Amino acid sequence: MGQAIVIAPSLTAGYVRTVSNQILKCPKCQGEMAQGFVPDFSHSAAIVAAWHEGQPRKSFWTRTKVRLRDGVTIGAFRCRRCGFLEFYADPKFAAQ
Ligand SMILES: [Zn+2]
Repeated sequence: MGQAIVIAPSLTAGYVRTVSNQILKCPKCQGEMAQGFVPDFSHSAAIVAAWHEGQPRKSFWTRTKVRLRDGVTIGAFRCRRCGFLEFYADPKFAAQ
């Protein structure tokens, strides 16, 4: 729990390992976690959803004030067994 995650580039796509080289396990059922992302289609394009710090503020023009450059892209990890989702925000989860 709380362990930093590292994605080893040599691994088969979808497998995620911790810094101690263990396959990331589901905290609910110990199933295997698969890397994914949450797309955001609201800008007439698909971008990776991002985390923004603080309370959201309303905007007359855009509903919510957002400065895209302030966001930290979200990596979403899904348990292959039970479907539990775990999110991490880190620039390394941006589209590559
Ligand atoms: Zn699970």
